[in-house]
Amino acid sequence: MTSASNFCVEYFRRVKAGGRLGHAYLLGGLSGDPAAAAGFAAARVILCPQDGCGACTVCRAIDAGASPDLHVLRAPADKRIIKVDAVREVILREASMKSHSCDQKVFLLVDAHEMNDAAANCFLKTLEEPPGNSVMLLMSDRSDKLPPTIASRCFRLRLTGSVEGTESLLDAGSVGAIVHRMATEPLETNLEIAESIGALCKGENLDQRRRLALEFLDTIMVHCRHGLEAKGPLAAVDSEILFDQIDRVADAQRWIDSNVNAGLVFDDFVTKFLLIQGAGGPIRSRR
Ligand SMILES: [Zn+2]
Repeated sequence: MTSASNFCVEYFRRVKAGGRLGHAYLLGGLSGDPAAAAGFAAARVILCPQDGCGACTVCRAIDAGASPDLHVLRAPADKRIIKVDAVREVILREASMKSHSCDQKVFLLVDAHEMNDAAANCFLKTLEEPPGNSVMLLMSDRSDKLPPTIASRCFRLRLTGSVEGTESLLDAGSVGAIVHRMATEPLETNLEIAESIGALCKGENLDQRRRLALEFLDTIMVHCRHGLEAKGPLAAVDSEILFDQIDRVADAQRWIDSNVNAGLVFDDFVTKFLLIQGAGGPIRSRR
Protein backbone atom coordinates (compact mmCIF):
# COMPACT_ATOMS: atom_id res chain seq x y z
CA MET A 1 0.00 0.00 0.00
CA THR A 2 1.37 3.43 -0.87
CA SER A 3 2.00 6.02 1.80
CA ALA A 4 -0.98 8.02 0.46
CA SER A 5 -3.26 5.02 0.97
CA ASN A 6 -1.71 4.37 4.40
CA PHE A 7 -2.41 7.94 5.36
CA CYS A 8 -6.03 7.64 4.20
CA VAL A 9 -6.47 4.48 6.25
CA GLU A 10 -4.98 6.00 9.40
CA TYR A 11 -6.72 9.32 8.97
CA PHE A 12 -10.22 7.94 8.35
CA ARG A 13 -9.90 5.34 11.13
CA ARG A 14 -9.13 8.18 13.45
CA VAL A 15 -12.04 10.44 12.45
CA LYS A 16 -14.44 7.48 12.34
CA ALA A 17 -13.42 6.37 15.85
CA GLY A 18 -13.87 9.93 17.06
CA GLY A 19 -17.33 10.22 15.47
CA ARG A 20 -16.04 13.12 13.38
CA LEU A 21 -16.55 11.80 9.87
CA GLY A 22 -17.34 14.76 7.62
CA HIS A 23 -19.55 14.92 4.55
CA ALA A 24 -16.95 15.94 2.01
CA TYR A 25 -13.19 15.67 1.64
CA LEU A 26 -10.94 17.10 -1.03
CA LEU A 27 -7.92 14.82 -1.21
CA GLY A 28 -5.20 16.60 -3.14
CA GLY A 29 -1.93 15.63 -4.74
CA LEU A 30 -2.80 12.53 -6.77
CA SER A 31 -4.59 11.86 -10.04
CA GLY A 32 -5.76 8.87 -12.05
CA ASP A 33 -5.23 5.35 -10.76
CA PRO A 34 -3.11 6.27 -7.70
CA ALA A 35 -5.85 8.71 -6.65
CA ALA A 36 -8.49 6.03 -7.15
CA ALA A 37 -6.45 3.56 -5.08
CA ALA A 38 -6.16 6.01 -2.18
CA GLY A 39 -9.90 6.75 -2.46
CA PHE A 40 -10.72 3.04 -2.32
CA ALA A 41 -8.53 2.67 0.78
CA ALA A 42 -10.48 5.49 2.45
CA ALA A 43 -13.82 4.04 1.34
CA ARG A 44 -12.95 0.63 2.83
CA VAL A 45 -12.31 2.23 6.22
CA ILE A 46 -15.51 4.28 6.07
CA LEU A 47 -17.78 1.41 4.97
CA CYS A 48 -16.28 -1.67 6.65
CA PRO A 49 -17.60 -2.41 10.17
CA GLN A 50 -14.02 -3.32 11.14
CA ASP A 51 -12.45 -0.19 9.66
CA GLY A 52 -11.17 -1.70 6.43
CA CYS A 53 -10.25 -5.24 7.48
CA GLY A 54 -9.82 -6.32 3.84
CA ALA A 55 -11.48 -9.68 4.51
CA CYS A 56 -15.19 -9.10 5.21
CA THR A 57 -17.95 -9.12 2.59
CA VAL A 58 -18.02 -5.30 2.56
CA CYS A 59 -14.28 -5.01 1.84
CA ARG A 60 -14.35 -7.82 -0.70
CA ALA A 61 -17.24 -6.20 -2.56
CA ILE A 62 -15.34 -2.89 -2.66
CA ASP A 63 -12.20 -4.60 -3.99
CA ALA A 64 -14.25 -6.37 -6.64
CA GLY A 65 -15.83 -3.08 -7.70
CA ALA A 66 -19.22 -4.46 -6.72
CA SER A 67 -20.08 -2.61 -3.51
CA PRO A 68 -23.64 -1.25 -3.52
CA ASP A 69 -22.51 1.55 -1.18
CA LEU A 70 -19.45 2.81 -3.03
CA HIS A 71 -20.18 4.89 -6.12
CA VAL A 72 -17.29 5.92 -8.31
CA LEU A 73 -17.47 8.84 -10.72
CA ARG A 74 -14.63 9.17 -13.17
CA ALA A 75 -14.22 10.69 -16.64
CA PRO A 76 -13.97 8.27 -19.56
CA ALA A 77 -10.26 7.81 -20.35
CA ASP A 78 -10.61 9.25 -23.86
CA LYS A 79 -12.69 12.32 -22.85
CA ARG A 80 -11.27 13.71 -19.58
CA ILE A 81 -14.59 15.42 -18.88
CA ILE A 82 -17.13 14.49 -16.22
CA LYS A 83 -20.51 15.51 -17.58
CA VAL A 84 -23.69 16.49 -15.77
CA ASP A 85 -25.48 13.30 -16.84
CA ALA A 86 -22.87 11.25 -15.00
CA VAL A 87 -23.29 13.34 -11.85
CA ARG A 88 -27.07 12.88 -12.01
CA GLU A 89 -26.75 9.17 -12.67
CA VAL A 90 -24.09 8.30 -10.11
CA ILE A 91 -24.62 10.84 -7.36
CA LEU A 92 -28.04 12.48 -7.29
CA ARG A 93 -29.99 9.28 -7.82
CA GLU A 94 -27.93 7.15 -5.45
CA ALA A 95 -27.63 9.81 -2.77
CA SER A 96 -31.41 9.89 -2.43
CA MET A 97 -31.63 6.12 -1.87
CA LYS A 98 -31.05 4.29 1.39
CA SER A 99 -27.72 2.53 1.85
CA HIS A 100 -27.71 -1.21 1.15
CA SER A 101 -25.59 -2.95 3.73
CA CYS A 102 -23.85 -0.26 5.77
CA ASP A 103 -24.74 2.91 7.60
CA GLN A 104 -22.82 4.96 5.09
CA LYS A 105 -22.51 5.57 1.38
CA VAL A 106 -19.32 6.79 -0.22
CA PHE A 107 -19.12 8.75 -3.45
CA LEU A 108 -15.65 8.76 -4.94
CA LEU A 109 -14.90 11.38 -7.62
CA VAL A 110 -11.58 10.62 -9.29
CA ASP A 111 -10.03 13.76 -10.83
CA ALA A 112 -12.98 15.80 -9.63
CA HIS A 113 -11.67 18.90 -11.43
CA GLU A 114 -12.70 17.23 -14.71
CA MET A 115 -16.34 18.08 -13.97
CA ASN A 116 -17.47 20.65 -16.50
CA ASP A 117 -19.44 23.70 -15.30
CA ALA A 118 -22.85 22.05 -15.56
CA ALA A 119 -21.61 18.95 -13.71
CA ALA A 120 -19.98 21.04 -10.99
CA ASN A 121 -23.17 23.09 -10.49
CA CYS A 122 -25.21 19.93 -10.23
CA PHE A 123 -22.76 18.37 -7.79
CA LEU A 124 -22.73 21.55 -5.70
CA LYS A 125 -26.45 21.10 -4.99
CA THR A 126 -25.70 17.73 -3.36
CA LEU A 127 -22.86 19.25 -1.35
CA GLU A 128 -25.12 22.06 -0.15
CA GLU A 129 -27.63 19.61 1.24
CA PRO A 130 -25.68 16.41 1.78
CA PRO A 131 -27.73 13.29 2.51
CA GLY A 132 -27.16 12.36 6.14
CA ASN A 133 -25.29 9.13 5.53
CA SER A 134 -23.05 10.03 2.63
CA VAL A 135 -19.37 10.87 2.40
CA MET A 136 -17.98 12.55 -0.73
CA LEU A 137 -14.33 11.92 -1.53
CA LEU A 138 -13.06 14.30 -4.21
CA MET A 139 -9.65 13.29 -5.53
CA SER A 140 -7.79 15.98 -7.46
CA ASP A 141 -4.26 17.16 -8.14
CA ARG A 142 -5.74 20.32 -9.70
CA SER A 143 -8.00 21.54 -6.93
CA ASP A 144 -7.40 25.12 -8.15
CA LYS A 145 -9.62 24.21 -11.11
CA LEU A 146 -12.54 23.32 -8.86
CA PRO A 147 -15.06 26.11 -8.18
CA PRO A 148 -14.38 27.72 -4.77
CA THR A 149 -18.00 27.01 -3.88
CA ILE A 150 -17.14 23.30 -3.98
CA ALA A 151 -13.69 23.51 -2.38
CA SER A 152 -15.02 25.57 0.53
CA ARG A 153 -17.47 22.81 1.47
CA CYS A 154 -14.73 20.18 1.65
CA PHE A 155 -12.19 19.29 4.24
CA ARG A 156 -8.86 19.54 2.41
CA LEU A 157 -6.15 16.94 2.90
CA ARG A 158 -2.85 16.58 1.10
CA LEU A 159 -1.89 13.05 0.07
CA THR A 160 1.46 13.96 -1.45
CA GLY A 161 3.38 17.10 -1.99
CA SER A 162 6.78 18.59 -2.40
CA VAL A 163 7.79 21.02 0.29
CA GLU A 164 10.22 22.80 -2.02
CA GLY A 165 7.58 23.96 -4.49
CA THR A 166 5.43 25.66 -1.90
CA GLU A 167 8.39 27.24 -0.13
CA SER A 168 9.69 28.96 -3.22
CA LEU A 169 6.26 30.52 -3.75
CA LEU A 170 6.44 32.10 -0.35
CA ASP A 171 9.91 33.42 -1.00
CA ALA A 172 10.53 33.76 2.70
CA GLY A 173 13.16 31.32 3.73
CA SER A 174 12.57 27.84 4.98
CA VAL A 175 9.00 27.23 6.04
CA GLY A 176 10.26 23.87 7.34
CA ALA A 177 12.52 25.65 9.79
CA ILE A 178 9.61 27.81 11.01
CA VAL A 179 7.34 24.78 11.41
CA HIS A 180 10.04 22.98 13.34
CA ARG A 181 10.49 25.91 15.69
CA MET A 182 6.75 26.18 16.23
CA ALA A 183 6.60 22.53 17.14
CA THR A 184 9.60 22.41 19.42
CA GLU A 185 10.37 25.78 20.94
CA PRO A 186 8.79 27.45 23.99
CA LEU A 187 5.75 29.68 23.86
CA GLU A 188 7.63 32.99 24.01
CA THR A 189 9.65 32.15 20.91
CA ASN A 190 6.49 31.07 19.17
CA LEU A 191 4.94 34.49 19.65
CA GLU A 192 7.81 35.95 17.63
CA ILE A 193 7.42 33.25 15.01
CA ALA A 194 3.68 33.94 14.80
CA GLU A 195 4.44 37.56 14.00
CA SER A 196 6.86 36.62 11.25
CA ILE A 197 4.30 34.26 9.76
CA GLY A 198 1.70 37.00 9.87
CA ALA A 199 4.16 39.15 7.90
CA LEU A 200 4.52 36.40 5.31
CA CYS A 201 0.83 36.59 4.59
CA LYS A 202 0.64 40.33 4.03
CA GLY A 203 0.37 40.33 0.27
CA GLU A 204 -0.47 43.37 -1.81
CA ASN A 205 -4.13 42.55 -2.16
CA LEU A 206 -6.74 40.21 -0.73
CA ASP A 207 -6.30 37.52 -3.38
CA GLN A 208 -2.58 37.48 -2.89
CA ARG A 209 -2.91 37.25 0.90
CA ARG A 210 -5.38 34.41 0.54
CA ARG A 211 -3.07 32.58 -1.82
CA LEU A 212 -0.07 33.05 0.47
CA ALA A 213 -1.99 31.90 3.52
CA LEU A 214 -3.26 28.80 1.67
CA GLU A 215 0.23 28.05 0.35
CA PHE A 216 1.70 28.35 3.80
CA LEU A 217 -0.95 26.12 5.34
CA ASP A 218 -0.46 23.65 2.53
CA THR A 219 3.23 23.55 3.33
CA ILE A 220 2.52 22.90 7.00
CA MET A 221 0.20 20.06 5.94
CA VAL A 222 2.93 18.53 3.77
CA HIS A 223 5.39 18.82 6.66
CA CYS A 224 2.91 17.08 8.95
CA ARG A 225 2.46 14.33 6.35
CA HIS A 226 6.24 13.92 6.09
CA GLY A 227 6.43 13.87 9.88
CA LEU A 228 4.00 10.93 9.95
CA GLU A 229 6.46 9.09 7.71
CA ALA A 230 9.27 10.05 10.13
CA LYS A 231 10.77 12.46 7.62
CA GLY A 232 11.60 16.17 7.76
CA PRO A 233 11.60 18.68 10.63
CA LEU A 234 8.56 17.13 12.35
CA ALA A 235 9.91 13.55 12.23
CA ALA A 236 10.15 13.29 16.02
CA VAL A 237 6.71 14.73 16.79
CA ASP A 238 4.05 12.36 18.11
CA SER A 239 1.69 11.15 15.37
CA GLU A 240 -1.42 12.09 17.39
CA ILE A 241 -0.23 15.68 17.43
CA LEU A 242 0.53 15.62 13.72
CA PHE A 243 -2.98 14.34 12.97
CA ASP A 244 -4.39 17.12 15.18
CA GLN A 245 -2.34 19.65 13.25
CA ILE A 246 -3.57 18.26 9.95
CA ASP A 247 -7.17 18.75 11.12
CA ARG A 248 -6.36 22.26 12.23
CA VAL A 249 -4.72 23.14 8.91
CA ALA A 250 -7.68 21.74 7.00
CA ASP A 251 -10.08 23.77 9.15
CA ALA A 252 -8.11 26.95 8.52
CA GLN A 253 -7.99 26.29 4.78
CA ARG A 254 -11.72 25.76 4.67
CA TRP A 255 -12.33 29.10 6.35
CA ILE A 256 -10.03 30.82 3.89
CA ASP A 257 -11.76 29.02 1.00
CA SER A 258 -15.04 30.38 2.40
CA ASN A 259 -13.75 33.92 1.93
CA VAL A 260 -13.23 34.59 5.59
CA ASN A 261 -10.46 37.14 6.12
CA ALA A 262 -7.24 35.19 5.64
CA GLY A 263 -5.36 37.23 8.23
CA LEU A 264 -7.94 36.50 10.94
CA VAL A 265 -8.02 32.81 10.09
CA PHE A 266 -4.27 32.70 10.22
CA ASP A 267 -4.07 34.41 13.60
CA ASP A 268 -6.63 31.96 14.93
CA PHE A 269 -4.67 29.03 13.52
CA VAL A 270 -1.41 30.17 15.06
CA THR A 271 -3.08 30.88 18.41
CA LYS A 272 -4.46 27.35 18.53
CA PHE A 273 -1.08 25.96 17.52
CA LEU A 274 0.37 27.85 20.47
CA LEU A 275 -2.37 26.71 22.85
CA ILE A 276 -1.32 23.10 22.38
CA GLN A 277 2.06 24.06 23.72
CA GLY A 278 0.69 26.32 26.41
CA ALA A 279 -1.64 23.62 27.77
CA GLY A 280 0.49 20.56 27.40
CA GLY A 281 4.02 21.86 27.72
CA PRO A 282 6.56 20.95 25.10
CA ILE A 283 5.21 18.68 22.41
CA ARG A 284 5.81 15.03 23.25
CA SER A 285 8.49 13.33 21.28
CA ARG A 286 8.18 9.74 20.14
CA ARG A 287 11.94 9.30 20.26
ZN1 LIG B 1 -13.86 -5.25 6.07
